[in-house]
Amino acid sequence: MEIFKGTATFSGIAIGKILYYSRGEYQIRQSLVSNIKKEIEEFQRARSQAAAALLELYEKKCLLNEQEAKTFLEQKNLLESESYQKAIESCISSEKVNAAYAVMTNRDEITETFRSLEEPAVRKRIADIQEISNRLIQILGGASLHINLGEEPVILVTESLSPTEIMEMDKEKLLAVVMHHGSAVSHTSIVAKTMEIPTLVDIVADDAWDGLTAIVDGYTGTLYLDPDGEIQKEYEIRLEADKKEKEELLKLKNEKDVTADGKEIGLYANIGNMSDLNNVLYYGAAGIGLLRSEFQYLGRESYPRENELFLAYKKIAETMGDRPTVIRTADLGADKQASYLDIPEEINPIMGNRGIRFCLDRKEMFKSQLRAIYRASVYGNLAMMYPMVSSEKEMEEIEELIQEVKQSLREQDIPFRDIRTSIMIETPAAVMISRELARRVDFLSIGTNDLTQYTLAMDRQNLLLKDKYDDHHPAILRMIRMVVEAAHQEGREAGICGEIAADTALTETFLRMGVDFLSVVPACILPVRKALRETDLGGR
Ligand code: PEP
Ligand code: MG
Repeated sequence: MEIFKGTATFSGIAIGKILYYSRGEYQIRQSLVSNIKKEIEEFQRARSQAAAALLELYEKKCLLNEQEAKTFLEQKNLLESESYQKAIESCISSEKVNAAYAVMTNRDEITETFRSLEEPAVRKRIADIQEISNRLIQILGGASLHINLGEEPVILVTESLSPTEIMEMDKEKLLAVVMHHGSAVSHTSIVAKTMEIPTLVDIVADDAWDGLTAIVDGYTGTLYLDPDGEIQKEYEIRLEADKKEKEELLKLKNEKDVTADGKEIGLYANIGNMSDLNNVLYYGAAGIGLLRSEFQYLGRESYPRENELFLAYKKIAETMGDRPTVIRTADLGADKQASYLDIPEEINPIMGNRGIRFCLDRKEMFKSQLRAIYRASVYGNLAMMYPMVSSEKEMEEIEELIQEVKQSLREQDIPFRDIRTSIMIETPAAVMISRELARRVDFLSIGTNDLTQYTLAMDRQNLLLKDKYDDHHPAILRMIRMVVEAAHQEGREAGICGEIAADTALTETFLRMGVDFLSVVPACILPVRKALRETDLGGR
């Protein structure tokens, strides 16, 4: 038995046979080409096909989380960049080699040059180059991207996997993933997490591992290769216990979200697109507390039409029935860009013209979303909330637009309901005026992801700050309390929809603060439900 220590990116235990996957680079042969122009055209054809596939993947399979969706766009942009095209074309013409070989050479040179750099942004860039290169090679060679996992479930061990590769795998055949490259925040890890697959990174393997038995401990980041009998027995018992715990949790899927002393809490799901709806239903969420509607605006060439938005909201409303669905109006700008949006370059986009500011600058775009939401309101239990609000003036402008929209719907005899409205509390300014804001809507929803970055003045995406970005900071907890109290003073509800809402170490703290609802990723519904059902507030 050999023991390897890596980094776990999703907890869980797996025992099984290893499938060692290597991309078979040796199959890419170098051949000398005489017609360079034709070879460059071949490369360009493959490049357009790969870019179209990435766009399609983004649109159709765009994942539960914005980072994941963004990867496809970033890779498409990389493929379309002049520098990438030039590098390949000049390799083809100067070396007189075939396109697949030029793409492979470029990939390997970049990987080799930057291999020793640990900077997350560089590693991410290398992973993107590898992925687009492999995609191009597959197209040029006519092979399929699909990794054949075989008949029996396996522990897949490999150098690196792309988010697309893992997303396309049959979840039932994948016990665990072990990779050399990647990090806890890499997109592949995020997809694996979404698929609930134990994953280890930073483990170097080779093809001699193929077919061996292994144990993956996704709690401690340990891999046991060819484990001895005693270890195997111990992990079989732990695996059983793990399964039982999950089954136990599933028993809660139809239970109420109520504390041990009888206080009812709203426990809702955060989703990014329609394909996440299944998980919302599977885990028995009481509703959708945050629909990040901006995803429908990204990865495309033009604004979605009002009818397209309407049909999407109608489907969600109908699927959810009586259960509430809170549509967050488009939170565009900052890291959510599309070229047709024509957003001028900003020195500091995170502090820039984003969220509600952006929508209020583009009133026709905003009104078409408002109209779509109101038109869909008669098909279910919809509510609407506004991101990044920082002043009452913004609210006055929104209220005016809503009146206009309602008036036009009345004139056209289009039915609608007076849906509940909400403000996301994501800026320190909004916290300070939360009483005034609460008066203008039906409830407040605290977006702690942004609230933390603006309060601590730390970019939530800056990996250099990953150990310093502290969403448990006393300032954040005090702000949550302030907002809840302000809302209650105005007779309104308040809850949390940032990632911190799923942190069960804080469930009791939040409940004692009086939060009325929590909204979390679907996979966290049951652990949070369990935590709140076990919390006794002493009849508070
Ligand atoms: C937040 O900021 O906490 C939030 C829920 O919104 P997003 O993560 O989409 O910015
Ligand atoms: Mg936010």
